[in-house]
Amino acid sequence: MKNLRVIVVGGGIGGLQTALALGADGHQVIVLEAAEKFLEVGAGIRVPPNSSRLSISWGVDFSKAKKEISLGNRFVDWKGKILHDCDFNGVERDYGSPYYFLHRADFIEILVDAVSKHQNITLKMNSRVDEYDFDAPAVVLASGERMEADLVICADGIKSSVRNIINGSPIEPQDTGDVAYRVLVPAKPLLDDPATRHLVEEPWAVHWMGPEAHVVGYPLRGGELYNIIIDITHETDVGRPVAEGEWRSQADNTELVKRFAKWCEPVRKICNLTGNYLKWKLADFDQLQRWVHPSGKVAILGDACHPMMPYMAQGAAQATEDAATLRAAIKAYDNLHDALMAYERQRLPRAAYVAKNTRILQEWLHLYDGPERDRRDELMRHDNKENPIYWAYAERKDWLFGYDAQKLNRDEENQLPKLAGLPAEEARIYTGKLRDTELRRQLRSQRTQRAVSDI
Ligand SMILES: Cc1cc2nc3c(=O)[nH]c(=O)nc-3n(C[C@H](O)[C@H](O)[C@H](O)COP(=O)(O)OP(=O)(O)OC[C@H]3O[C@@H](n4cnc5c(N)ncnc54)[C@H](O)[C@@H]3O)c2cc1C
Repeated sequence: MKNLRVIVVGGGIGGLQTALALGADGHQVIVLEAAEKFLEVGAGIRVPPNSSRLSISWGVDFSKAKKEISLGNRFVDWKGKILHDCDFNGVERDYGSPYYFLHRADFIEILVDAVSKHQNITLKMNSRVDEYDFDAPAVVLASGERMEADLVICADGIKSSVRNIINGSPIEPQDTGDVAYRVLVPAKPLLDDPATRHLVEEPWAVHWMGPEAHVVGYPLRGGELYNIIIDITHETDVGRPVAEGEWRSQADNTELVKRFAKWCEPVRKICNLTGNYLKWKLADFDQLQRWVHPSGKVAILGDACHPMMPYMAQGAAQATEDAATLRAAIKAYDNLHDALMAYERQRLPRAAYVAKNTRILQEWLHLYDGPERDRRDELMRHDNKENPIYWAYAERKDWLFGYDAQKLNRDEENQLPKLAGLPAEEARIYTGKLRDTELRRQLRSQRTQRAVSDI
């Protein structure tokens, strides 16, 4: 199909990538974004090759942003011992594009820059969509303006209302049991300190793993900043819907300094550098049945249909893949309904699989010391399907990074690599079956004190 009029609801990474993908084929795209201006959180984003390759193909110019090229994922225990390096050397050669670390604001800026250069893409800020007409299709803005199109793509994020309508029942984002603390610090103090200089000079995404938490750090903006994500189990409300107002809150570093007081020196130093920061509840939901409205004219994309924990660094990358496959399907089919069904058939299982892997990593990354942790440390060293670290098994890494989302697959080409297993039941911390220990009681009591002081 050619020359479609497309409305994209939501100008996040998913919406902007969709506009660029469809705009590249000459469709007329209007992006409607509720916010008055882009207020991306002060945090980094990892842009893996399965996503950077697509963005480059539709005109996103990464040379305009200060960035790092990832050396890989380094796994370290909470005492500071390096357990395994998943080396990304050769990523560009093997998968056709680099693996970048970017500041989110810089990423949005180069996406918006590419959008603004397209004659056939219009980005409208301050344009909240309040209502949908699924048959026309059309949207009605908060201002009352009605806009018609041939196709409406809803990239309106994890709280999307359209998802419920498409699936015929409310699908609430559910608490995963983890909170993410997102912090950006100047790199200078780390560079000045011999114990931490390497963290900035060697752009690994370092994962320090310990009981009920892991810390991820990587440098940004050519070594000016260091990005930190601290993922901590809070466990108490696993599976409960996340209420409005609970999504994020401000905190200062006193609780972090205390929580990580016994971890290795770099983690302690990082915690000391953090001032105020944002705490995010991490939420997801079970695999959806449908991404496409029965009218065959409206579909969902990105976090609206496949939110995931950040542990694979793939949420935005999967939204970018959605955009590429949507474009390919529209090109290949003569009617929209068939194109959207092909999009759903190809994208839904892959995105759900990646999301499921984030839940598997959640269990392995937060283990207590003990026999199961020892088994994990051993499994990590072997390039086979039992390895719980996703990228340490070459077949899975190739499947993830080498995937061409611009190609429509036959069903038999959509095979999913085997998932790694979960830790032994008695070592898992999210099932309530782990034996109580002094340390576990201490961590629980810290959480309770925090909850009381939050009130
Ligand atoms: C701690 C953390 C770290 C992460 N790290 C990575 C990473 O390294 N790599 C990666 O690939 N992913 C990462 N992710 C995931 C990634 O951030 C998300 O998957 C991605 O940003 C989702 O993009 P989206 O466009 O689908 O949704 P959103 O970013 O939520 O965008 C939705 C947009 O729609 C707008 N909107 C909502 N409702 C309406 C409406 N009614 N009308 C108009 N506009 C509307 C919103 O204002 C918003 O701008 C991470 C996530 C977290 C929490």
